Amino acid sequence: MQKKILKDVNVKDKRVLVRVDFNVPMEDGEVTDDTRIKAALPTIEYLINEEAKVILMAHLGRPGGEVKEELRLDPVAKRLANLLNKTVFKTDETVGAEVEKAINEIETGDVVLLENTRFNPGEKQNDSDFAKKLGELADLYVNDAFGATHRAHASTAGVAEYTDEAVMGFLIQKELETMGDAIQDPEEPFVAIMGGVKVSDKIGVIETLIEKVDALLIGGGMANTFIAAQGYEIGDSLLEEEKIDLAKKLIDKAKEKGVKLLIPKDVVIADDFAADAEHKVVSVKQIEDKWQALDIGPETVNDFKDVIKDAKTIVWNGPMGVFEMATFAKGTFEIAEALAESDAITIIGGGDSAAAVKKAGLADDMTHISTGGGASLQFMEGKPLQAVEALDNK
Ligand code: ADP
Ligand code: MG
Repeated sequence: MQKKILKDVNVKDKRVLVRVDFNVPMEDGEVTDDTRIKAALPTIEYLINEEAKVILMAHLGRPGGEVKEELRLDPVAKRLANLLNKTVFKTDETVGAEVEKAINEIETGDVVLLENTRFNPGEKQNDSDFAKKLGELADLYVNDAFGATHRAHASTAGVAEYTDEAVMGFLIQKELETMGDAIQDPEEPFVAIMGGVKVSDKIGVIETLIEKVDALLIGGGMANTFIAAQGYEIGDSLLEEEKIDLAKKLIDKAKEKGVKLLIPKDVVIADDFAADAEHKVVSVKQIEDKWQALDIGPETVNDFKDVIKDAKTIVWNGPMGVFEMATFAKGTFEIAEALAESDAITIIGGGDSAAAVKKAGLADDMTHISTGGGASLQFMEGKPLQAVEALDNK
């Protein structure tokens, strides 16, 4: 079903309530990475230019339904004001008299940011009273919080029922279009690279993608379960024992489908999960007792690069190793480099993968870096995103 988008509605002089994803990293009361704030700017600036009254709402962290001083959105308002070069009126409440007064007092083209939606216990329960109170603040609702679309909360989904219209903002539109095109009608060869911690987090996506891709490259912690499935010892490496059978089935499925499935041939093992641990490159047949695999090895990197260089569409989800430690970052950075050099459509999903690409200084060389880890996984899995479903149909 096609959903209504921002361009489909008239916003002039209207009170427009916009759910954004401002769940940004903070340190000592300062925003340390404003990628997500910047990603919301096209929608916010459009509404300002179209002379709407812009009412923003967002969550930050996990306050658990109560006020946590360190999770107030004031630092976010400050950064947004800098980026917009414009006053942002920040309220100390999310709904109620103070908020209504602020909205009554602003002019068209002004911006208000409501307090952290998760200070209210109704938010995560998708409570209809809370959703109604939010909806009554505005004439129409725009959802642009892609990173929160896989959760039906009061400010992402419930609220859509309580405004005249409920539409999708530019960021969600771009995320869905870019990833949708890549997955539904990929230019081939289509290659998926999966890594990160757990097979169980990504099993749905792997099962969906194995039906569509020409090659599937597996690295990171999850590769260990596949290495174990091939009958090798993996020492103290991260393992999901109960997923070994599933890994075997996927190996068989890939064969059956003619999908090229690459599992690491060599890995960097360490005697401790630490940046200064003893470490060495070994074949996966020689992982020693008490050692753990923390990165893919150079032979594996080369095998992966060979596949990447011929690809026309690449989706990548999950780092190849513990890239947070320089000693084990090489596999991830080299794969990032290979994607950056490729002329394929390159799509990065997953919060840590996005962080790794940024850390490698290669963010600008990718076609699309999703702002939503869980949401992009759910979308790639082919499952509906609840907070998109809640919006008006065309
Ligand atoms: P994303 O957020 O991109 O979806 P995940 O959250 O699944 O990725 O996984 C990211 C984490 O996986 C990183 O913190 C990284 O350190 C860790 N990781 C990668 N490879 C290994 C490994 N071999 N052993 C343990 N942890 C790993
Ligand atoms: Mg992650």
